[in-house]
Amino acid sequence: MKPHDAMVIVGAGQCGARTASALRTNGWEGAIVLLGNEGLAPYDRPPLSKQVLLGERTTAQCTLYDEAFYRDNQIDLRVDAAVTAIDRAERCVRLSNGDSVPYRRLLIATGAEPRRLAVPGAELAGVHLLRAVPDALAIVEELVPGRRIAIVGAGFIGLEIAATAKARGCEVIVIEAAARALMRAVPEVVAGYLVDKHREMGVDVRFAVQVERLVADASGGRVAGVKLSDGTSIDCDAVVVGIGVTPRTALAEAAGIDVADGIAVDDTLRTNDPHIFAAGDVCSFPHRLFRRRIRLECWKNAEDHAKVVARNMLEYGETYSAVPWFWSNQYDMTIQIAGIPAFGTNTVTRDAGKSSKLFFALDGDNVLVGASGVGKMAEIAKDVRIAQELIAQCSRIEPRLLEDPATKLRSLMSAEAT
Ligand code: NAP
Repeated sequence: MKPHDAMVIVGAGQCGARTASALRTNGWEGAIVLLGNEGLAPYDRPPLSKQVLLGERTTAQCTLYDEAFYRDNQIDLRVDAAVTAIDRAERCVRLSNGDSVPYRRLLIATGAEPRRLAVPGAELAGVHLLRAVPDALAIVEELVPGRRIAIVGAGFIGLEIAATAKARGCEVIVIEAAARALMRAVPEVVAGYLVDKHREMGVDVRFAVQVERLVADASGGRVAGVKLSDGTSIDCDAVVVGIGVTPRTALAEAAGIDVADGIAVDDTLRTNDPHIFAAGDVCSFPHRLFRRRIRLECWKNAEDHAKVVARNMLEYGETYSAVPWFWSNQYDMTIQIAGIPAFGTNTVTRDAGKSSKLFFALDGDNVLVGASGVGKMAEIAKDVRIAQELIAQCSRIEPRLLEDPATKLRSLMSAEAT
């Protein structure tokens, strides 16, 4: 291999692996080096908080590609490579074992790091985060019928684990610091609808309360309770912390690459260094539709970024403007979200089918910026898909039309585009 002839990807998660694959399908015939440090081949994370915890899928079944894929596509996957620095002058990445890997183009797809609870007792046994396979395997062991699981954070991790823990016969308490669930993801009415379902299923959900400390059992080594800021205490057998993530930008920052809530890229996913790109959870990018820089922490964004960034590493120069799409499963409910509902100032609710609801988020000019469907997949999926197209059109829509189930969303497709 000639120096600087490889496409190098730091981060062997979903975005990194999909980019390696897309480089090949887009005709790149040179070397591809995919550097990860999880000790495992790239895998799909969404099942970790759902099917894996329910015992419906093994972690091996979450693997994205088998060994033959990497061999056949000549992708040099290294799963124990700790990248310590990006040397922009030499155009190479340096590894902890002393190796350096030169690049023609570099992709940083290092994802995000779960936030840790910064309180006394956070290091006790029985306190878990959920981001990677070992975390899911440890949590599965805790979900024994009759045990009390305290979950800190009513975000997507917290609520999905609450639903799976309940399905496994555990008692579940959710502790959220904010005044409501999913503050940054969905409008209050949507979060309220979801939380009602959790309470109906017997989950004890508490808002506006902080964890003061985690209390150890008699041995002093394992968590046995949570002391809250309102003076109350909760006995529990295990704690799962889902209080958000921070983008892993340290390598980029140390190399002098611009960072703005994530590695700052342009709309082609290129950083301020023309040889270096960033994609997935770790980057923030300007979005044409929302007229601002955003950072998305979701599976679909990692998939879509991978397709575009691979082409741009090959100098296609394509801009990225996909409408965000996100899903979750809790109990028998599917939640699908298109756009960014949190950017709305007004939410309109529509009944969908017998037992589902759609929530449309409009900005101050009645431009549709987000749509959330909650309920049965068959009753919401099609409309969320159409809403995604309406968001892409920047459609300005009368709220009463969105509210009325008799108005076919498809008929709004010709609505005035801004
Ligand atoms: P998240 O969705 O950001 O939610 C974290 C929640 O914890 C927020 O409500 C946050 O409130 C709250 N919180 C923060 N500090 C707290 C504290 N000290 N005590 C109690 N609550 C606290 O993050 P997550 O649920 O941890 O999920 C991690 C990542 O995985 C996210 O990027 C998420 O989107 C992703 N994920 C996706 C899916 C899916 O696609 N279906 C499923 C699971 C996870 P504030 O907002 O006020 O900080």
